[in-house]
Amino acid sequence: MVMYRQRYWSRSYLGYPPVRDAQPNPTHYAIAALQMTNHVPKLITQNVDGLHHKAVPPEARFSAKDRILELHGTLHVVHCRRKHKIDRMVFQDQLSELNPPWKEFMDEMIRTGTEPRTNPDGDVDIRGVDFSNFVLPVCETCLEDGIHDDILKPEVVFFGESIAPEVKQQSFQDVESSDRVLFIGTTLATYSAFRLLKHATELQKPVMLLNIGPTRADDVPGVEKIEAASSEVLRGAARALVKGRRGEKGLEVVERLLVSGTIKPPPDDNEDRAPRAAG
Ligand SMILES: [Zn+2]
Repeated sequence: MVMYRQRYWSRSYLGYPPVRDAQPNPTHYAIAALQMTNHVPKLITQNVDGLHHKAVPPEARFSAKDRILELHGTLHVVHCRRKHKIDRMVFQDQLSELNPPWKEFMDEMIRTGTEPRTNPDGDVDIRGVDFSNFVLPVCETCLEDGIHDDILKPEVVFFGESIAPEVKQQSFQDVESSDRVLFIGTTLATYSAFRLLKHATELQKPVMLLNIGPTRADDVPGVEKIEAASSEVLRGAARALVKGRRGEKGLEVVERLLVSGTIKPPPDDNEDRAPRAAG
């Protein structure tokens, strides 16, 4: 099992900088604009990259943490077996310190612009690299209690794992407290997302899908669907909703968000952005 973890963390170590430095796209910013105008009081995301949090501007009078539920966790937090949380950036520095040759390897990659290929779990594809010498940190909080725990994992729901009961419960509550639910850019392939749609329809909430291509809910009665680029639709909707409110306090922030974000095409094999949570 040590080998497995060394393999995982050495790849994750090299794969983290692009994840850490990734910037929100126009859809993230359009949703942030709708959060600012209070049209989207609750946001549930299947993504683990933290970009919805990043899109919330510093001017926001709410905390992104309170308004955004990360259904499948986040790559930006690591925890030990006793669930002590460690900031991923701090953890990255620990890995650098413990593994100088790997840090050199990474610095070299950055210098030469050879970015590693990252998959949605923040893992990276490398061949011919010996990870058996990769040194893993231990949880420092556990160490204070005399416990040596180097079984650290990212706070992400992996394939075959279940969503934490409190997260599942919160996701249902968020649906219940909303007067309508919009599903954006998801095929709803993961059951943890699909069951939220089912829950909403059972409660007779208006439900709409905004996605290009087929989804698991296309045949669910009563579900409306817009097949169009989410950034266009959401920017358009936000502009329409704030029309006539020009000059209002805080609106310039919303307008800024509606022209923010660049589109970076995902790699070809990156079709399923959602982590593969079983539910
Ligand atoms: Zn610990």
